[in-house]
Amino acid sequence: MSGVTFNRKRVKLKKLLGIRARLAMLAVLLVAPLMLERVRSLEDTRARQIATASEEYANITHHSAETQREVISSVETMLKSAAYIRASSGIGRSCEILRASLPANLPWIRSIMLVSKEGTVQCSTLNIQVGLNISDREYFRKAQETRDFVFSDYLFGKTNNRPIMMAAYPVAAINREEESVAVAGINLDWLSKIMANFGGRPGISALLIDSTGVVLAAPPDQASMIGQPLDNVPLLSAITYKALSSNSDTGSLSFAATDGSKRAVSFARIPGTQSRLIVSVDEAKVTAAINREIRTAYLQLGFVCLFVLLGALIGAEKLIIKPIEVMTGMARRFGEGDWTARVARSRLPSEFMPLARAFNAMAAQLSQRERELVATNDRLTVMASIDMLSGLANRRGFQSRLDFEWLKAQQYHSELSLLMIDVDHFKLYNDTYGHPEGDACLTRIGETLAGIAADTMGFAGRYGGEEFCLLLPNTSPQKALEIGETVRATVQGLALPHITSNHLTVTVSVGVAATLPSDTQTPGDLIEAADAALYAAKHRGRNTVVEHGFAKLVDEAGMAMAG
Ligand code: GH3
Ligand code: MG
Ligand code: MG
Repeated sequence: MSGVTFNRKRVKLKKLLGIRARLAMLAVLLVAPLMLERVRSLEDTRARQIATASEEYANITHHSAETQREVISSVETMLKSAAYIRASSGIGRSCEILRASLPANLPWIRSIMLVSKEGTVQCSTLNIQVGLNISDREYFRKAQETRDFVFSDYLFGKTNNRPIMMAAYPVAAINREEESVAVAGINLDWLSKIMANFGGRPGISALLIDSTGVVLAAPPDQASMIGQPLDNVPLLSAITYKALSSNSDTGSLSFAATDGSKRAVSFARIPGTQSRLIVSVDEAKVTAAINREIRTAYLQLGFVCLFVLLGALIGAEKLIIKPIEVMTGMARRFGEGDWTARVARSRLPSEFMPLARAFNAMAAQLSQRERELVATNDRLTVMASIDMLSGLANRRGFQSRLDFEWLKAQQYHSELSLLMIDVDHFKLYNDTYGHPEGDACLTRIGETLAGIAADTMGFAGRYGGEEFCLLLPNTSPQKALEIGETVRATVQGLALPHITSNHLTVTVSVGVAATLPSDTQTPGDLIEAADAALYAAKHRGRNTVVEHGFAKLVDEAGMAMAG
């Protein structure tokens, strides 16, 4: 059982590893190194493009942080100059100068105000703010305490409740006596505008966050995040945490986000503030375009391989398999004995021509041999039914002719006669003249019988030894008897000397039998009757003709005798 399974498997394997599969494998082997090389170069390109993109984003981050820093430092400069003004003049004069000095090219500064020690806005470039009390604001207190420049976190404006960021610089930093504070409101819209560079880029989120992780500014497409604590945004909270927990001012890290995407984050602290610019890059999205390009290249590669494989298979089919099938078909027809089959050379590739020629030559030769063989066989068949000594049919030949004539006579209801002819005292002849002479004598008698057969439309044969027969189709008993007499007389007429015979020449005895063949008799019956008549002729003294005719015996003179 297991042997059968194993054999089946082997057959299947052989089929699988047929010439087509092998050629396909060969094609793959040939193409594989090129493919691998192409894959390697594509992967190189992908890595290089990703690196370039990352670098570009890092540059943008840096540049953006730099711009933010310039904004901040312009605020710082403006506040310091306001503090100087306040330190050197009274509040009325200072307010006048302040209102006149806010340059129009610093649109991110919403307003500049001078605030009293108690937190009351004494004057402002925005009138609406005058009289407000900001003593509850942390940045204000911190500026008084530290006597240094302070930046607030994300705030809501007191007059309009709009998001804002404040900067404060105490006049005490210049003049210890004067405890008022110069304060500036920073337009967050402007910080966002600076980040417009990051907008609309798939996979990039850029945000400016304060020290608590609240979004201060974002590109227009992410504007909804402004004022939101990043803790609420699952993906970005991790980024915020990493950015805020890092001690360095700038840095980059890469990690896998909770959604499984690989992210690279770079952040930069805006100098003099607790704000950080965070740029997060989703590598998958950024590389999506690159990947698309690479995918197209892979697709092209796949098509090339497919074409190579198809080409190899079609080539194999046309150049190898088909010719082999043509040859196989030819060999099969030869096997079935159809030697006329020839390979049409036009259907074969030139490499198969010698084989096709050899096939055709073989077919031609074999067909010639077969013709010769048939001829030889025919000759052998003839020879097998001919007696070489007398030149007449041998017993076999005679027998088959008798069967044939019997059927014919039966079919046409015609008479069939048979003469059995035996040489008289032939043993003595041999004894007297020797065997070769005996042979020569038999040859002469054979020739004689052939002549008589030709004259009488009969068929002569050598029945065996010195016994001959003459089959006479369509011949009546009387006619047969006459022919028997002719035979007897002609042999005697040859006058071949036979001194040990009473007739002194070679003579023959003839038994004649005739019949109208029917189903009740057989050819053997006719032979037996002729034999019986011959026996009677020997008894009658030889050199005699006796007719049997199945019913009566006729002597040499034609007298009827009882059988
Ligand atoms: P009968 O008159 O009764 O026929 O006497 P016979 O001697 O002819 O008859 P028998 O049957 O006694 O002898 C036949 C002889 O024919 C014996 C044999 O040597 C001879 N004989 C048979 N075939 C051949 C042959 O092919 N060549 C020669 N030379 N002799 C043959
Ligand atoms: Mg005999
Ligand atoms: Mg004899």
